[in-house]
Amino acid sequence: MRNVVIIGSGCAGNTAAVYAARANLKPLVVMGKDAGGQLSLTTLVENFPGFPEGISGPDLVENIRKQAQNFGAEYVQGEVVDAELTKAPLRVKVEGEWMETRTLIVASGASARWLGLESEQKLIGHGVSSCATCDGFFYRGKKIMVIGGGDSAMEEANFLTRFGSEVTLVHRREQFRASKIMLDRARRNPKIKFLTNTVVEEVHDAAQHLVTAVRLKNLASGAVWEQEVDGFFVAIGHIPNTAVFQGQIETDGDGYIVSKGGAKTNLPGVFHAGDVQDRVYKQAITAAGAGCMAAMEVERYLEAEGH
Ligand code: NAP
Repeated sequence: MRNVVIIGSGCAGNTAAVYAARANLKPLVVMGKDAGGQLSLTTLVENFPGFPEGISGPDLVENIRKQAQNFGAEYVQGEVVDAELTKAPLRVKVEGEWMETRTLIVASGASARWLGLESEQKLIGHGVSSCATCDGFFYRGKKIMVIGGGDSAMEEANFLTRFGSEVTLVHRREQFRASKIMLDRARRNPKIKFLTNTVVEEVHDAAQHLVTAVRLKNLASGAVWEQEVDGFFVAIGHIPNTAVFQGQIETDGDGYIVSKGGAKTNLPGVFHAGDVQDRVYKQAITAAGAGCMAAMEVERYLEAEGH
C-alpha cells in the first residue's frame, strides 16, 4: 500500500513528487505516455523564475525529476489504464498491474491538439508550437501563422502581434467559435490578417529542421498556394488526459477535472495538479505551484486519516 501515487511526470507531477518525497511519503510517480509532459516538447523556457538565461524545457522537467528522486521519489514508466477511485484503498492499474494507494495526485496534463500532419509533427519545437506565451518571443520581426477559430487562437494571434512583423490567422470555416469580444479584438488588430475557409496541407521544411513556409488550400475556391512563414502556432484546443477516470472523477464538458477547492476533486484522497484541471493559465510555473498544493493537501489528508 502506497501513501501517494502521482500520475504524470510533467512540471505538476514532478513538483508534487518533490514535496511529497520531502514529507517522507515515498511517492511513486507513474510517468505516463508522454513522460515529461508538454515541457518536453518545448525549446527554451524563459519565463520560469530562477533562470536568468532561460532553461531548456526538457532540462527543466528532468531537473525537477532528479530533485524528487534525490529525496526518495520512485518513478515507473507506463500509463494508468484503469482506476478504481470511489472507495479506499484507491487502485490504479499500470502496465497490467494493480497498485493500491491511500491518496492519488492526478497530474496527467492536457495534450495540445495538433493538426496531425507528418510535417507539423516533425517540426514541433523547430518553428511549430502550441504555446504563444512560451515561444512567441523567438519570432520578433518574423512572419507568424496561427491556426484555429476559437478563443485560444484569437488570444494567441493578438499576443503574437507584439512580436511578429505580421500574423496570419487561418481558420477552416467562415464562422468562428471564438467569443465575440475576442474575435472583435483580433479583427481590430491591424497586424492580423484573416484567412477563413482555409486549411493547412503541409508545413515546410522538415528537411531543414525549420519552418519556412506552408501550403494552404481554400476550401471554397479550391485554390492552393504557398505562404512564407517562420513561426507556426497551432491553437485548436487541448485534450485533458482524463479519459481513464471518466465516471469517477468529476469533469466538465470538455473533460477537465472540476476542482472542489485547493487541489481537491470530488473524491476523498484524490487530488488534482496542473493542466488536467487548469484551462486558463496552463504555465509551467502554475503547474509547479499546483503540484506543491496537491502534495501539501495529501500530507494533511493522510495526517487527518491517522497515517
Ligand atoms: P475551441 O473553442 O474548442 O476551438 C478550437 C478551434 O480549433 C475551433 O475553431 C475549431 O474549428 C478549430 N479546430 C479544431 N480541430 C481542428 C483541426 N483539426 N483543424 C483545423 N481547425 C481545428 O478551443 P480553444 O480556443 O482552445 O478554447 C477552449 C476553451 O477555453 C473555450 O471554452 C474558450 O472559450 C476558453 N478560452 C478562453 C480564453 C479567454 O477567455 N481568455 C482564452 C482561451 C480559451 P471549428 O470551429 O471548425 O470546429
